[in-house]
Amino acid sequence: MLLQAQVTPETEIRDPVLRQAGVSLWIKRLDQVHPLISGNKWFKLKYNLIAAREQGLDSLLSFGGAYSNHIHALAAAGTAYGFKTIGMIRGEPHSPLNPTLQFAVDQGMQLHYLDRTTYRQKESAAFIDQLRDRFGDFYLVPEGGSNALAVKGCTEIIDGIDQDFDVLACACGSGGTLAGLIAGLQGQGQVLGVAVLKGGDFLTKDVINLLQQSGSPVFENWNIDVQQHFGGYAKHRPELLDFIRRFEQVHGIPLDQVYTGKMMYALWEKIRAGQFAPGTRIMALHSGGLQGRLPELIRSKA
Ligand SMILES: *Cc1c(COP(=O)(O)O)cnc(C)c1O
Repeated sequence: MLLQAQVTPETEIRDPVLRQAGVSLWIKRLDQVHPLISGNKWFKLKYNLIAAREQGLDSLLSFGGAYSNHIHALAAAGTAYGFKTIGMIRGEPHSPLNPTLQFAVDQGMQLHYLDRTTYRQKESAAFIDQLRDRFGDFYLVPEGGSNALAVKGCTEIIDGIDQDFDVLACACGSGGTLAGLIAGLQGQGQVLGVAVLKGGDFLTKDVINLLQQSGSPVFENWNIDVQQHFGGYAKHRPELLDFIRRFEQVHGIPLDQVYTGKMMYALWEKIRAGQFAPGTRIMALHSGGLQGRLPELIRSKA
């Protein structure tokens, strides 16, 4: 199976805020890597799909919330590369389906709902065995898609960046992407993760674990900003939504309110506060997720 990443643009952002701080900023448009397997999820899935194929498994099973970009990407990957997909969704079914789950079903994904207590068993071997009894054999992709093979895939994000930079920034949910960037950079430059959920301190340990599982040194040239979560995962406030709207108006680049909006907001605050030395070249990863934007953020093309 050959999965070749499409070349994606790097766009320089020009803005008085950047000029004043003396820094430069580019956005790596990973959101354009595949029409349906959005952004970082393409890289996280790549070696998992290859492993599933090598193991002769034709079904993929994973876990996620009702708005999970990972479930969305897995469903699309199933269609694109010929796997059956099973999505174990946290919580109650709702009708009509939200756009993420409707898309998953349209891609042929089988959805099953787990109450919150059962969902917590998602890493228990006994529970996974029960699922195998029920659905037959499958390739298991963990919730959020972060495992050693996801880290390996995300190291290739680095190979696809042409522009030289000093700082590489990304949004951080489960930390798999950040771990891949750290491993791919091999200690060069500085990597900044922006946690999009509350209480993100656990992420440092998770990223270290993922690096170790993937056979990478842990390195020290990275840190995670855990302050800019806006109240928690998928939570937002008017100032975040205003920032996202303004950013798209001025720079023509759409951001989502769950991941890339929070990353860019955090970056912007740090730039304004003078936290980057003049001359610093910043590369921000647009990790995708635009299909999960709030309807009120979607500009009409009229
Ligand atoms: C899933 C996702 C992330 C977070 O990636 P992790 O590897 O879980 O940290 C970041 N941005 C977008 C758009 C995502 O969909």
